[in-house]
Amino acid sequence: MEGGCACGGVRYRLTSAPLFVHCCHCLNCQRQTGSAFVVNLLIESARVELLADEPVAVDVPRDDGSTQRVYRCRTCEVAVYSEYGRPDVRFVRAGTLDEPRRVTPDVHIFTKSKVAWVVIPESVPAFEVFYDMAEQWPAASLERIAALRR
Ligand SMILES: [Zn+2]
Ligand SMILES: [Zn+2]
Repeated sequence: MEGGCACGGVRYRLTSAPLFVHCCHCLNCQRQTGSAFVVNLLIESARVELLADEPVAVDVPRDDGSTQRVYRCRTCEVAVYSEYGRPDVRFVRAGTLDEPRRVTPDVHIFTKSKVAWVVIPESVPAFEVFYDMAEQWPAASLERIAALRR
C-alpha cells in the first residue's frame, strides 16, 4: 500500500501488511487529529519505504506530560505517521493512505473516551484502555515484533 501527505511532498510505500491496526479513541488522538479517533497501522519502520521527501519529527505534548513524536510533511504539515517510545515501529495514519478503505481496525482502544455516536461492530474487540498483545496479535505479528527486539 502507498500513501502520502496532502501536497505530495511526502510519499511512502508499506512493503508488507501491517503488524496490527489500532482504532484509538483516546483524547490525545482526538486532539492531534481534530477528529473523533485515529486509525493507525503498526508496522516495522524498516517496512515504511520513503519515495519522496523525508517528513520532519515534531514532539507533540500529551495529556500525561510526555510527548509523542509525530512525523509531518515539511511543506503542508500533514502528519503521516508517529511513534510511541520506540523508533523501530511506526504508527502510520490510515487516512494518509491512497486507499484508506482497504484498512479495517483489528482492535478499538481507549473506548472510555469514545464519542457516543461512534458505534463499534460487535465482531471487533474493543477495550476501555489497552489490551494484552499476546492475546490479540496474530502469531506471525508477534514473531515479527520479537524479531525486532533480537
Ligand atoms: Zn505535504
Ligand atoms: Zn490514542
